[in-house]
Amino acid sequence: RVRAIVLARGSASSHAAILARSYGIPMLTGAGTSVLDIAEGTLLAVDGARGELVVAPTEEVRNDVRGRIARRERDAAAVRTAAIGPATTTDGVEVAVLANVASVVDARAGVAAHADGSGLVRTELLFLGRERAPDRDEQEGVYRAVAEAFGGRRVVLRTLDAGGDKPLPFLTQPHEENPFLGVRGVRLTLRHPDLMLDQLVAMCRVAHDHPISVMLPMVSTVEEVLAARVLLDQACHEAGGRAESLRFGIMVEVPVAALKSASLAPHVDFFSVGTNDLTQYALAAERGNSGVAQLTDGLDPGVLALIAALCTGAGDVPVSVCGELAADPDAVGLLIGLGVRSLSVVAPAVPGVKQRVRAASVSAARGLAERALTCAGAAEVRDLVRSSVPSG
Ligand code: PEP
Ligand code: MG
Repeated sequence: RVRAIVLARGSASSHAAILARSYGIPMLTGAGTSVLDIAEGTLLAVDGARGELVVAPTEEVRNDVRGRIARRERDAAAVRTAAIGPATTTDGVEVAVLANVASVVDARAGVAAHADGSGLVRTELLFLGRERAPDRDEQEGVYRAVAEAFGGRRVVLRTLDAGGDKPLPFLTQPHEENPFLGVRGVRLTLRHPDLMLDQLVAMCRVAHDHPISVMLPMVSTVEEVLAARVLLDQACHEAGGRAESLRFGIMVEVPVAALKSASLAPHVDFFSVGTNDLTQYALAAERGNSGVAQLTDGLDPGVLALIAALCTGAGDVPVSVCGELAADPDAVGLLIGLGVRSLSVVAPAVPGVKQRVRAASVSAARGLAERALTCAGAAEVRDLVRSSVPSG
């Protein structure tokens, strides 16, 4: 029943914003503290796409907004119907368009939006707000239900990405001054090998019946990857052997991981760029802080240069993007031009991204990406993309 959310603070790449987007709920962030003074019961008109808020709108404004909603719903329905089947560029390159999910309900929404699979299952939602970790059987049940919803399409299960802004009550962590630079993601799970092993065993069991990829968050070093692989081998053994279709990959969220992709590549089957974190770390601007929200644009040429370096170093290892940038209409063509061949986005964004892919050509996108890398800033990159139809 929630029609829209308006936040005084916050930013568009916070986890709250990502959840709202996955439910298709319009949300404005960083609207300023004056919104806290709006009287209870006041009608608001919110246009998430335009970033507009009208307090106590007149009848004329209300009619205008209703018209916009109806038009957008009609357009979205048409784009959704057209989203059936694979997305191929005009020069014949297939780009997988996948759904990011955090639950079985999200997985069903992804399938309904014609996603080609899931490029990111945020498993931590299963762990948050609990007194102890879910056991192997419970985890297996949830991962299996998500995989079943996708009916044979590949599902990428990310290992627990707690810490940072997602603390876990049952893993006592000492206070950290900078939790985003602290013990989070794979750094945390490697310090709790029993917890990590339980999760990997649950994933390996499901992999016997469904195409599953296991993905590590927040990787910074080759040693972390090797340590996790040892645990994965043990988990496969405990799950009755390694399924032939099981794949293993890492997220690229820490800038040095992008720069070290050639050293990491021999140890993984795929890379997936988490642009939300990659952008916050590259620009030293926290993703949930409205004071620096202007800085956290994944189209900053420096962030694009990191993705370009990753793709070059990756060689034949496929590169995907599962951060919010993958759903940014200005970014789709650029990412394809940089060498990305799968995009994982919130379910409501799947049809629009497929439409973008089908309008792009790899050869034109490559030229565009090269020029974007020479731009001075994100605004210039956006101008460049918008002036170069149709590859953007
Ligand atoms: C990312 O960092 O881009 C990402 C996909 O992971 P999360 O948003 O869950 O941190
Ligand atoms: Mg992340």
